[in-house]
Amino acid sequence: MIRILLSIIVILIIIVCYLISKIIENKKKLSYISSICDKVSSGNVNLRLRLSNTTHEERLLCNSINNMLNEFHGLQVSELESKESMKKMLSNISHDLRTPLTVMLGYIDQINYNENLPELDKKNYLLKLGNKTNEVINLINEFFSLSKLESGDKEILLSNINISETIREVILNFYDILTEKDLSTEIVIPDKDIYCLANKEALTRILENLITNSLKYGSDGTSIGIKVYEEENLVWIEQWDNGKGIDLSDKDKIFQRLYTVEDSRNKDYSGSGLGLTIVKALVQKMNSDIFVESLPYKKTTFKFYLNKETK
Ligand code: ADP
Repeated sequence: MIRILLSIIVILIIIVCYLISKIIENKKKLSYISSICDKVSSGNVNLRLRLSNTTHEERLLCNSINNMLNEFHGLQVSELESKESMKKMLSNISHDLRTPLTVMLGYIDQINYNENLPELDKKNYLLKLGNKTNEVINLINEFFSLSKLESGDKEILLSNINISETIREVILNFYDILTEKDLSTEIVIPDKDIYCLANKEALTRILENLITNSLKYGSDGTSIGIKVYEEENLVWIEQWDNGKGIDLSDKDKIFQRLYTVEDSRNKDYSGSGLGLTIVKALVQKMNSDIFVESLPYKKTTFKFYLNKETK
């Protein structure tokens, strides 16, 4: 009897020891987890949990915490990027507004105070004043368009529209300027009408911005083109030119607010850096995405898809 009792006590002692060792091990794991979380929140954003000898539940917990840390890291990076982009935006706005406003002031001063100014020059300055005013108005309108899109104030209603017709209409509007710039045009659109779930105004704006960019930045090439083709439930639209193209380092950034490739800012026509941001926002409103590929002087292509209506 005593033997049996002794054996039970020994077994109980072993169990208690085992449980105590488990509790100590768990305490160590918990303090390891909390130390990693503390380090991450105080700046060591690349640290992640790595526990050995874990149970299934502990592994699940580790994975969830690591996913949360990844998310946290992503948020920090995007906050940093948006701060940078805001700084650049403010400096671009002040540049973009200050430059035409200074020029306008110059013309106004000439008209007001130069008594010897010939009548013809006066007319010329007034004409230029009008052009510059339009430039500033356009820029401000672009800012408004984008902020309305981003805040969700502007509704982009989707309906089944004939995109072949819309694309042809847009190209027709550019006919004169394409001829003037001596650029050949290659249009590949299937003969039959293609319908997609889209918004006509948005599609028109996207194509206009892309073609305008090809005219601004790709006109040292020889051609501009548009190709439309179907792929299962999607319709792809490619707009291309064979101008100087876009550097690999700029490819991901050109869709950011106010990002202009540095030498584009030095040209006579300095862009606002909002054109492609608006394009991307509109494409996304149509449940799609846009991609760019560039081989300088061969082909720079912007391509996006539209969804066909599924019955
Ligand atoms: P911007 O108002 O400067 O034209 P965008 O957002 O439309 O702004 O374009 C961003 C930048 O992308 C431009 O500054 C230009 O350098 C580059 N870019 C856009 N389209 C083209 C193109 N077809 N070929 C070469 N560069 C381009």
